[in-house]
Amino acid sequence: MRLSQFHLATVKEVPADAEIDSHKLMLRAGMIRKLAAGLYTWSPLGLRVLRKVEHIVREEMNRAGAVEMLMPSVQPRELWEETGRWEKFGGQLLKIKDRKEQEFCYGPTHEEVVTDFARNELKSYKQLPVNFYQIQTKFRDEIRPRFGVMRAREFLMKDAYSFHLSPESLAETYEAMYQAYTRIFTRLGLKFRAVQADTGAIGGNASHEFQVLADSGEDAIAFSDGSEYAANIEKAEALAPTIARPAPCANLQRVDTPRVRTVEDVTAHFGISADRVLKTVLVRGKQGLVALCLRGDHEINEVKATKLAELPDESVLASEEEILAAVGSRPGFIGPVGLPDSIPVIVDRSAAVLADFVCGGNANDTHYTGANWERDARITRIEDIRQVVAGDPSPDGHGTLHMARGIEVGHVFQLGQKYAEALDATVLDDQGKKQVMWMGCYGIGVSRIVAAAIEQRHDDAGIIWPEAMAPWRVAVCVINPKNAPEVHAAAESLYNELTARGIETVWDDRGLRPGAMFADMELIGIPHRVVVSERGLAAGTLEYRARDAADSSAITRDQLFEILG
Ligand code: ATP
Ligand code: MG
Ligand code: MG
Ligand code: MG
Repeated sequence: MRLSQFHLATVKEVPADAEIDSHKLMLRAGMIRKLAAGLYTWSPLGLRVLRKVEHIVREEMNRAGAVEMLMPSVQPRELWEETGRWEKFGGQLLKIKDRKEQEFCYGPTHEEVVTDFARNELKSYKQLPVNFYQIQTKFRDEIRPRFGVMRAREFLMKDAYSFHLSPESLAETYEAMYQAYTRIFTRLGLKFRAVQADTGAIGGNASHEFQVLADSGEDAIAFSDGSEYAANIEKAEALAPTIARPAPCANLQRVDTPRVRTVEDVTAHFGISADRVLKTVLVRGKQGLVALCLRGDHEINEVKATKLAELPDESVLASEEEILAAVGSRPGFIGPVGLPDSIPVIVDRSAAVLADFVCGGNANDTHYTGANWERDARITRIEDIRQVVAGDPSPDGHGTLHMARGIEVGHVFQLGQKYAEALDATVLDDQGKKQVMWMGCYGIGVSRIVAAAIEQRHDDAGIIWPEAMAPWRVAVCVINPKNAPEVHAAAESLYNELTARGIETVWDDRGLRPGAMFADMELIGIPHRVVVSERGLAAGTLEYRARDAADSSAITRDQLFEILG
């Protein structure tokens, strides 16, 4: 590519809302431009990188036996009603109406559409297993779109869905996808970890996330130095078997406090006499230790509060009956107080009897007052709640636990029969009997990978692309102050030869001053730079510098081709 014929538009200033390095650098390099919150245009430069990622993802999916297709991004409400997700999916689902007032959504994911396709297309076990994939635009109305394309509303995803006659077959394809993902992120040149993920509300047997390691990552991951154990913190915490899911609490009021962890802290910071504090429980939240303490405020509740406090420490109240017998009320729980990063803790108590607790807390050392017991919550045991902290023994018993931050770039999931059951997607087995199919799903955030790579690989001057993702591998820069025809001709011939050898090269023929030209090439992260100048021509050399090297060196053409392989 001759740069004079391209559209390169680097900029010096970036908007103040660009918080993390990858977002700033993508804007400065002119890879993306914001259209509206969470909506970005990919410039010609940005698109070159995006296509590189796409290409590797496609190659490895094909190699793993998946077959590509393309589904519509606009999906009818009726289909989502069949799985119950029209309501359940929540605010991320962008609902739209056509001119006939028919309702649709803009697809945040494609389980419904692909299962509909499968129930119509797949009739016999002989057609299984099969793994369909697409690379396509998704829309999720994220509450807080941020960090540019990292958490956008419209983004590019590779999503695959496999169909099987048996759970064993599903496990095989799941393993194949796990391996394919490992190859993809290795080829992309990224530092990553595959971690066990919380299967959350969807349930299912197995789920792994692929996390690119970066300090700015939104996820916290835990891994062992003595085994393969690696998990998203959510999952690591879920090992304490029954930490509850979030549920709203009424009357919450936020109070900023220094970290509160013990009964003494509680009495000091909230002025509650120690004998009125039931218990403090420490758990680990996404962002640090969470202190939770419970206190009964209402006189009428004191009796029951005392009863709970009087329970021996090792007591296990596993059922509603046991709780009723011990405390004299129905079970309830004190929840996560609506904080996205706080960890809910369940205590077996009744929603009806206790109110106005002090609870919660997170890395910002905030606590909440006024939390109430909830009815119809899950039951658990206080004893189940445990901390997961760096330095602990790994939950699998091998090695020590470490913590790191990660960016979720891929997610594989054994869905089981949930969607196939809901949509009645069946095939006939070898006995001619109808069987509901088993399903897996496998996502990759193609556009997020671009930002994640930059987050992991940059310096003060700009992006440092891994070779596999660079918009071009080589930049040919010409220093030609007097417009000497032989310098121009030498640059052109080098460019032509590189191109003829299949090496993607950009020739900076814009006639900029060397400083500005080099700054641009560093900012946009081209792995190899060669400078053609009058002086070099006279000496028979080129000035070469690798993007991640401190210095440049004088080399011959042949040496250059050797370096580029
Ligand atoms: P997150 O936890 O970051 O919200 P998710 O778990 O909701 O992601 P999945 O449903 O697992 O996402 O989708 C598959 C992949 O799509 C994710 O692993 C991620 O790489 C990518 N992805 C999800 N949401 C976004 C987004 N808002 N912007 C860019 N990429 C996204
Ligand atoms: Mg999400
Ligand atoms: Mg996630
Ligand atoms: Mg996910």
